[in-house]
Amino acid sequence: MINDAAALAAINELKISKAVYGFVRSAEDELASVYTSIDAVAEANFARVLGGFKEENVGLRHFAPTTGYGYDDSGRDTLDRLFAHALFAEDALVRPQLTSGTHALYMALNGLCSAGYSVVAASGKPYDTLEGAIGLSGDYPHSLVKQGVSFDFVELDRNGKINIDNVLKTIEEKKADVLYVQRSRGYAWRDSLLVNEDMKPLFDAVKAKHKNIAIFVDNCYGEFTDIVEPLCAGADVIAGSLIKNPGGGLAPTGGYIAGKAKYIQKIEQLLTVPGMGREVGSYAASYRPFYQGLYMAPHTTAQALKGAALFARVFERLGMQTMPASDAKRSDIVQAVRFNEEEGLISFCRSIQSASPVDSAAVPEPWDMPGYTSKVIMAAGAFVQGSSIELSADAPIRKPYTAYVQGGLTIEHCRLAVMLALNDLVNAGIVRI
Ligand SMILES: *Cc1c(COP(=O)(O)O)cnc(C)c1O
Repeated sequence: MINDAAALAAINELKISKAVYGFVRSAEDELASVYTSIDAVAEANFARVLGGFKEENVGLRHFAPTTGYGYDDSGRDTLDRLFAHALFAEDALVRPQLTSGTHALYMALNGLCSAGYSVVAASGKPYDTLEGAIGLSGDYPHSLVKQGVSFDFVELDRNGKINIDNVLKTIEEKKADVLYVQRSRGYAWRDSLLVNEDMKPLFDAVKAKHKNIAIFVDNCYGEFTDIVEPLCAGADVIAGSLIKNPGGGLAPTGGYIAGKAKYIQKIEQLLTVPGMGREVGSYAASYRPFYQGLYMAPHTTAQALKGAALFARVFERLGMQTMPASDAKRSDIVQAVRFNEEEGLISFCRSIQSASPVDSAAVPEPWDMPGYTSKVIMAAGAFVQGSSIELSADAPIRKPYTAYVQGGLTIEHCRLAVMLALNDLVNAGIVRI
């Protein structure tokens, strides 16, 4: 097995030892049934995506750049409908002008809320980048709190699951108008929330008592990891980033918001100007990467999921704790690995950087990132700046020294990256195989 062409290329080009190559390959052999399930999810999702392209009769004309006001921009409007179809939504807003996931999430929440509204989060404190937008930290004009919206969150239970009783109690106490749920683990040692197993029971329980509450899901990192999306389980609006899963690694920037038409109609007014909403907004570059990105997204997400499972399996074999386990059903593309000591964690992140196609010579250093209590190290060598559907790793430098790995456009890249990381750990005497 070691003598095949793939092994020789890895050994010659990347100086991976035979032992490491064999170790990773044999770990991967154990993932056959995991890979089969991931492929089945990708196939189902791709069929739906392709069905949308056919239904919309997508043609080259849709890729054309537009200018000025962007009236009757059929590339923009058709892309909205394709995303709606792909995500089981009645309607969607997909825009390069949404600069990030955080921007899409903030705009969606802002559009759902008016002064005096109450938002209750069912999945603990929201993702770090939303703190300023919500008004949980900093003192920014136009944060939701500054606009008179209250925000409360209910912690997950000891097992990282939603505490439905506490959520219902808090909704009643606060007379909540919006329920907020974060699908991905983000950078927390907890499981991602599965659509049917975790979200549906919550949404059913909430809607049974509060028919008019709007359920909003931060869907970042979750798209196409399952054959269902949160809207299938009764969510009303979802939002996410195009430089994660649904951009397929090709979208150069952007975000999306999707859901029930009546809510999208409210939110779309914030896209530009009340009264103009989605009718205006041009894009002077081609829309092609967004279309092709959506076309690739089910496959690309599957590649990232296989990569995550492989990272998990390799480090499980070395006796380290992983979250989720290599054979767990996943609802996001994030893989956490506990190194338990600083040296291994830093070595790992540096290896991921050195395995990148871009900036491979950069050496990541732990630094004091604004908003974090401990130093953070980040490895990313992506074609699109900050894209985390491309292979990347981040870690706060604190016990128990957990690395969060996500993305990888191809399983070939993920596999070589695990090999390089392990090679470096072995060479540094940090682990033995
Ligand atoms: C990435 C992410 C965000 C924020 O997206 P950005 O594009 O980084 O602004 C929000 N929530 C979750 C769960 C994410 O993974």
